[in-house]
Amino acid sequence: MPESFREHFDVQLIKRDPNALYFPPDAGVKWPLSDWRDAIGAWAYEKGWNDKPRSEGEWMILAVSELVEAFEEYRNGHLPNEETRIVDGKPEGVRSEIADVFIRLFHYCAVHGIDIGAEVTLKMQYNETREYRHGGKHA
Ligand SMILES: [Mg+2]
Repeated sequence: MPESFREHFDVQLIKRDPNALYFPPDAGVKWPLSDWRDAIGAWAYEKGWNDKPRSEGEWMILAVSELVEAFEEYRNGHLPNEETRIVDGKPEGVRSEIADVFIRLFHYCAVHGIDIGAEVTLKMQYNETREYRHGGKHA
């Protein structure tokens, strides 16, 4: 783990009110991408998900595995327009698995110090300059 990450999140963990939620109910409406990255990074650190180094391949496949779980939900007859099911307290469904994809990616961005908001902006500014369907691509 990069030392800058450890220092960053050690500071956050010390400052954090132990009774406060990392993820308040209005986070989905109010938080910029950088807040999600930082909160998920701190949460993952506290839960021990940074205790062992990971290869780049492992990071990538963890995000892909959540996308596969979303596809498995679809294979089992669940559609993305369905409300998330709560089964024994656990959210389940296509939407929930898509959330897992984002959680994995925010964790990756936290550990690697990626300003994902800036990266999405940069990429979309480029995409805006591209031709309709990027020059005729079919998919
Ligand atoms: Mg999942």
